[in-house]
Amino acid sequence: MQENIIKLSEILNEGYNEKTVVALVADFFDKNFNAKGFRVILKENYDGNLPHFPLYKHKKIIGYIEFTNTNIRLEKFLKIALYMLSLKFQNIELTERMQKAVDFQNAMKNIAKILETQYELNYIIPLLGEMIDKFIQNHLIYIFIKTGNKYKLMWPSACNENKIFDIINLEPRKRITTNEFGIFPIITENKLLGYVVTKNIDTKLSLKETEYLEELTNQSALTINRANAYAEILKHATLDALTGFYNRRQLDERIKQEIASAKRQKTPLCAIMVDIDFFKSVNDKYGHATGDIVLKTVSKSMRSQLREYDIAGRYGGEEFAILLPFTRADEAVMVAERLRKAVEKKVIDISKTNSDSAENEIHVTISLGIYEFKQSDTEEDLLQNADKALYRAKAEGRNRVVIYE
Ligand code: GH3
Ligand code: MG
Ligand code: MG
Repeated sequence: MQENIIKLSEILNEGYNEKTVVALVADFFDKNFNAKGFRVILKENYDGNLPHFPLYKHKKIIGYIEFTNTNIRLEKFLKIALYMLSLKFQNIELTERMQKAVDFQNAMKNIAKILETQYELNYIIPLLGEMIDKFIQNHLIYIFIKTGNKYKLMWPSACNENKIFDIINLEPRKRITTNEFGIFPIITENKLLGYVVTKNIDTKLSLKETEYLEELTNQSALTINRANAYAEILKHATLDALTGFYNRRQLDERIKQEIASAKRQKTPLCAIMVDIDFFKSVNDKYGHATGDIVLKTVSKSMRSQLREYDIAGRYGGEEFAILLPFTRADEAVMVAERLRKAVEKKVIDISKTNSDSAENEIHVTISLGIYEFKQSDTEEDLLQNADKALYRAKAEGRNRVVIYE
């Protein structure tokens, strides 16, 4: 008996979720008591009439263990075994709950952190979506944002649940949970900004999940509100806050000017499109704050290789456009190679944002596409063709320079 108790407790130590525990214990009963045919059934599903024994959780019977055959020896042992098993289940539940609380705190911290330099909802909303999605499993998550007086799906890319649109078009300002959906209004300062919607896959939202969603939605509301305010302030800015490069709007302005001048004076003009390689995996592995450091460092390395009158703009996320006035394609290749090498050998210090990781330094590479403007081209051709070359640089293996042809 003693020996079996020790053996069982060793086995229980190895199980980390209910499923593995049940499998391990079934095996144990089979080997030691020749009790084949063992199953655990939740109370509400129990319909059997074979010998069975109650399973407790917090003094309440939650289910039964049923055996196809038992013997006296096993029955004696079961009294203790079931107690041990019940305790184990309680422990698992507690650990899972604690883990969830930790995950939740981390998600909240991340949401707050992403936003220090971000103001584009196209970038922020997918991050919020992914975060909520990771956290609330067994439910589909949708995020709708009010643009004008319509609700636009911002995450994921499609939603064919017309019922959701029916509900949110009524603009409820309080949470609604039905058997199918959870509708959480994103409200801040009394303004309705949109909705986080969950669709049940097989279970309804638990009370705890509903509470978590409320908080995640509130945090998202603050974030979105701040991003909107930030975008408003930056409307008149010319530089991108993170990299110090021209922002997209200003870049477009400069392209027009440079093309006009290249046409008028018949001088050459080249564009280089740059994209960081595998940047998503930097974010995934080290977090977005580190991703931002990489963006800053890469843009700084590039700037140091350019002439004063070269024009560097942040085209979007981790893409940059560089205009080289008075420059032919063959010279542009040399510039691009210089940029590529400078970034490749740059040691990026990530210790500030990654204090808990063993890695303090990382490297990244960039891919570059070049295009030389022709007198007959339109304004759009310049970056579009450079982008096509960039696409080829990616396809051919990244960390390289390709000229459009
Ligand atoms: P590829 O080599 O094909 O370019 O791979 P990739 O992972 O770089 O490509 P992808 O375009 O899929 O990923 C770009 C990522 O850049 C996705 C987006 O979350 C991230 N990103 C965009 N803007 C920012 C930003 O301002 N900060 C951070 N940290 N990440 C950003
Ligand atoms: Mg990209
Ligand atoms: Mg990239």
